[in-house]
Amino acid sequence: MGFIPENKAPAGHGAKDAFYFLINDREIVVKRSRRKYWIPSGADLSIDDFDSKQAHFIGSLHEHFCYTLELPEDLTISDPLQTVSLREALTLFSSSEIHAISLAKQILTWDMNFRFCGRCGQPTVELRDERAKVCTNCGLTNYPRLSPSIIVSIVKDEHILLARSDRFPEGMYSVLAGFVEPGETLEECIQREVAEEVGIEVHNIRYFGSQNWPFPHSLMIGFTADYLTGEIRIDNDEIVDARWFTAAELPKLPGSYSIARNLIDHFCSSSSSANLAAFREGRALR
Ligand SMILES: [Zn+2]
Repeated sequence: MGFIPENKAPAGHGAKDAFYFLINDREIVVKRSRRKYWIPSGADLSIDDFDSKQAHFIGSLHEHFCYTLELPEDLTISDPLQTVSLREALTLFSSSEIHAISLAKQILTWDMNFRFCGRCGQPTVELRDERAKVCTNCGLTNYPRLSPSIIVSIVKDEHILLARSDRFPEGMYSVLAGFVEPGETLEECIQREVAEEVGIEVHNIRYFGSQNWPFPHSLMIGFTADYLTGEIRIDNDEIVDARWFTAAELPKLPGSYSIARNLIDHFCSSSSSANLAAFREGRALR
């Protein structure tokens, strides 16, 4: 059945024991049993330990109603329950569970950030029939925020351009990414980000795929592009190094759960036979 997002719990009963997505800034509570990770149900948690009225309904996962709420600081978590980082959770669960986790995290962020009206400062109330908070004074409506970002692989002959930010783990390189600015198309954003960060021009921009990224509310929109002209000239602000790599000599890369890694793997799989052989042997992907 997968995950079906909904704002309002359907009337009537019949759903299985509900799942609870207990999340704080960085972590989520999960259950480890039979060598697998699960989202805990009401039966796994001492529901009386927290105020379930604070929970937001987010939909149904495998026919279980799903609720999310801020992980209470004083909640005792003991085996088989444990906390894992949200980034790690993206590697432990299926795509439908990741969809639910991403939504749960973003609903909590929205709930925390829109308690008061940004226009007049008065309290907001949550609407019943849609995911929105409306100001009790001036009526301004606030929906969960989503921030579109581009992420792009740039290829030149048999090489891919990878860059390093000083926020990355030691030795790791990735494809370029950046937030879309007001007024820009996605294509204009790519041209601007690439020019700003590495000083080159690209063409043949093609859509690749997208990924929701709940840190805190990005939508990564992935593209491939070809090098057109210019020499690498890094900005030394966001980017501290950028180089062309072949599939056979790649540096440390982001995890396979990221669209960044999917873009790099796509480059490797469409690379020449010599590079492809190295890729398949695992020499390229350390
Ligand atoms: Zn207001």
